Amino acid sequence: MQTATSFEPGAPTRSGTIPLSVPEIRGNEAKYLSECVSSGWVSSVGPFVDRFEQQVANYIGARCAVAMVNGTSALHIALLLAGVKPDDEVLVSDLTFIAPANAIRYANAWPVFIGARRDDWQIDANIVRGFLENECVAKSSALFNKRTNHRIGAIIAVHILGHPADLDALSEKARLFGIPLIEDCAEAIGAEYKNRRVGTFGLCSTFSFNGNKVITCGGGGMLVTNDDTLADRAKYLSTQAKDDPLEYVHENIGYNYRLTNLQAAMGCAQLEQLDDFLAIKADVARRYREGLADVPGVSLMPVAPWAKSIFWLNTILIDEAVFGRSSRELLRELEAQRIQSRPLWQPMHLSAAHRGAQSVSCDISEQLYNQALSLPSSVGLPAGDQQRVIEIIRHAAR
Ligand SMILES: *Cc1c(COP(=O)(O)O)cnc(C)c1O
Repeated sequence: MQTATSFEPGAPTRSGTIPLSVPEIRGNEAKYLSECVSSGWVSSVGPFVDRFEQQVANYIGARCAVAMVNGTSALHIALLLAGVKPDDEVLVSDLTFIAPANAIRYANAWPVFIGARRDDWQIDANIVRGFLENECVAKSSALFNKRTNHRIGAIIAVHILGHPADLDALSEKARLFGIPLIEDCAEAIGAEYKNRRVGTFGLCSTFSFNGNKVITCGGGGMLVTNDDTLADRAKYLSTQAKDDPLEYVHENIGYNYRLTNLQAAMGCAQLEQLDDFLAIKADVARRYREGLADVPGVSLMPVAPWAKSIFWLNTILIDEAVFGRSSRELLRELEAQRIQSRPLWQPMHLSAAHRGAQSVSCDISEQLYNQALSLPSSVGLPAGDQQRVIEIIRHAAR
């Protein structure tokens, strides 16, 4: 069993260590939490839940938001809203945290992993198109994978590391083939695609307020949509599918996925600070870019011309032949100096948890996985600590 260290996501900073991404709590969190305690509204209904939903919807520019217990449950509900049925297949980014792939399995559907673009590391819309055009066949108003004969039920585009995927290209393919698009915005709240915030480009989108994200409820999630009927359905499914407010009558299998008022109180306080946090994160990103731009063998994650990234994490690529060390060697060197860095997630097509799943053109995501290292990126990262990280990387270069 692993023991908790200061490197656990969401753990407070222990002096002398520089963590990857920890929460920043300096607003009305304690005030709102104590309002919950003194009013007795602590559980899964309460004024902060309603307020948090409203404020997230406003922030994203969407009609509706439905609070969920975490981002993974929001993804599960999103797939059900999209009409994904058992044995359907869902196209999803290969280079991602595992949550969306797992959510597909919770819906008893199967993931098809789509490779990343070299230009921005996001799901490649051209690979999506190639797969839908060449590997699938239209039958009775739906699209079926020729190899498996499974229906294609949805596409999940994950905006990884704070950078938006190419949403015009993806939503065009989704529309063309009549497949619902879901955005996983867990790492990208406030990121913009062509000057518009991510989260309203598809049928619905999902957010996470886990401890390692930009803002946190301790744990929490949100489903966002412009469709009132879908939002009602999301609320229904996430509250045990209760068909009568008084009698315990249920026509469907529901889930207990609602956020508590306590968590929402944290969320409201954090959301008030989001714009400040994003401004600070932009400064952190700029300092890494300035401090590492000229280091041979080090390159920073590219930003697409249409993107405003929130730089949830700042991630570098190490070209071992030029830098003189691999990304994992640099990780150990930083660790010896009590600085936490982290490789990207094992690409899904290599994950034993999803063995047997089909994957399409995943060579770039594999290269990125081998070379990438994410650096300390907390909102509260002191400039001096960041300078230390930069110096160590500069000295590690051959
Ligand atoms: C964190 C994360 C999630 C899951 O969020 P939880 O709130 O931890 O369930 C989903 N997708 C991505 C891309 C994430 O980074």
